Amino acid sequence: MIVKHHWFLRKGDSTGNAVRLNVVADPGFLLPSWMPPRPYVLAETNWKAVKDTPFEVAILPWGATEPHNYHLPYGTDNYETRSIAEGAAEIAWQQGAKVVVLPTVPFGVNTGQLDLRLALNMNPSTQFAVLSDIAAAISSQGVRKLLVLNGHGGNDFKQMIRELQPRVNLFVCTINWWTCVKGADYFDEPGDHAGEMETSMMMSLEPDLLLPLSEAGTGKAKKFRVAGLREGWAWAPREWSKVTSDTGTGNPAASTPVKGEKFLRAVTERIGGFLVDLAKADPDNMYE
Ligand SMILES: [Zn+2]
Repeated sequence: MIVKHHWFLRKGDSTGNAVRLNVVADPGFLLPSWMPPRPYVLAETNWKAVKDTPFEVAILPWGATEPHNYHLPYGTDNYETRSIAEGAAEIAWQQGAKVVVLPTVPFGVNTGQLDLRLALNMNPSTQFAVLSDIAAAISSQGVRKLLVLNGHGGNDFKQMIRELQPRVNLFVCTINWWTCVKGADYFDEPGDHAGEMETSMMMSLEPDLLLPLSEAGTGKAKKFRVAGLREGWAWAPREWSKVTSDTGTGNPAASTPVKGEKFLRAVTERIGGFLVDLAKADPDNMYE
């Protein structure tokens, strides 16, 4: 069979929590007319398609709602993480992997930002309850693997998964997407929060939602006075408003949409490949 791809631009949104320009393959000539264009995005698909699809892997994008320097929107982590999840799922789906992206959880751990207006903290214990409920639901419905795709530095799903794993008949894993490829290969100074990496990504994904770089702060972050904490081999959460005056930690000055697009593509392809492998893997036989 000759498979041709018709590419078109569409603005995808059904929940109101993220909108982006997205290039997708039009499978209309291959699939029944009731099949949605992106059957791997749960919010866009329907029971008719879902009831006959043996989904192997669910992807739960998890972001945060918090200030990102002066120039990026509060939903930055959600836009980024959702976009990577959907892009990776598209790659995997086109290779036959039955994956599905669940709606993005927009609330992150922001206990260090409680004094910043409208930073919406969700405590780790609440996140664990949310994650447990979703895991219980999908495991009882025959999905065998769950990837928590994390897009916020304050979120940490490892310990939650250690506690959750023995309770559910579901293989649970997590990726912090910013660790998938080396940021230094794509950016002069990737930065930590609202810096060159995030600003470049958002220039590529949501250019209409950014203020011009001339409005951005420098993202200069103060360091701990205690050497071990400063050097990173000792750790404590940071009191954000004492660390930075503009809420950013990382200089956005050298950001460009082209850098953002290249980085996004690399991350998305890496995770897409992972999803293909994960979909094939037998949860009862995970070791070589
Ligand atoms: Zn962020």
